[in-house]
Amino acid sequence: MKRIAIVGGAGRMGQILAQGLAAQGDFEVTALVDVHEPHDRGGAIYVKSVDGLDPSNVDVVVDFSNPESVVATANWCAANAVALVIGTTGLDPVQRAAVERASASTAIVLAANFSLGAVLSERFAAQAAPYFDRVEVIELHHDKKVDAPSGTSLAAVHAIVEARRSAHRAAIDEPTTRNTLEGSRGADAGDGVRVHSVRLPGLVAHQEILFGGPGEGLTIRHDSFDRLSYVPGVALAIRSMPDAYGLTVGIDTFVR
Ligand code: NAD
Repeated sequence: MKRIAIVGGAGRMGQILAQGLAAQGDFEVTALVDVHEPHDRGGAIYVKSVDGLDPSNVDVVVDFSNPESVVATANWCAANAVALVIGTTGLDPVQRAAVERASASTAIVLAANFSLGAVLSERFAAQAAPYFDRVEVIELHHDKKVDAPSGTSLAAVHAIVEARRSAHRAAIDEPTTRNTLEGSRGADAGDGVRVHSVRLPGLVAHQEILFGGPGEGLTIRHDSFDRLSYVPGVALAIRSMPDAYGLTVGIDTFVR
């Protein structure tokens, strides 16, 4: 039974993870860490900061909080050689470097998207990429999302571009020579792969990767309908994380 402490344990993800991980059967959520008191403690102890954690009572720390608090979490995990899974996004280069330094003293997994469907759709897209002449990405999110395009869509384009370059496919030519409205063709996210962002109330996180070749098309679509979609990926990361110290970025290597 792995004992888990969740940083950001009072937040939207923290509360879902506390329930979802406890329900897996092989994890016990022993502590919730948050500056705010959690609505539901579910039998875990509550502490205001990682400094209140007892390292002898925690095997893995899971952090879904905010970028500033990730640094303190990583330093505590390094000082106590406790493994760490980070889902918090938006780390700046200084915060990211602090996580990398901490990974010299403990095992850390850092992933911007723990949804297994998103990981697999990126993998399938990379597999398809060399075989189609054109590809465009449409990412669709709720109307509270402040950044565009999504980090997930940029990661997908990166994987597509890498796969095309490995197969010696040239960058995609842009056929449009006259834009009646500026921005109609979305943004070139690399080698002519266009990304289009949609923001609407009612959506959660969705993505379509559209491929086109002579006489055929292929669409790879992924939908996150609920934050529950991240729980299996976090559980997989906890179970699969290496014993050796170091940083694993993304959960792709754990999805076989
Ligand atoms: P949220 O605002 O609901 O929760 C964040 C929690 O962190 C809050 O309860 C807040 O009080 C707490 N917190 C802030 N500072 C803290 C500190 N110093 N110490 C302890 N706790 C602190 O946000 P959320 O929707 O749960 O998302 C949390 C993070 O997870 C965000 O960065 C989000 O982008 C990320 N996220 C990642 C994935 C993924 O797959 N990697 C999926 C969903 C969300």
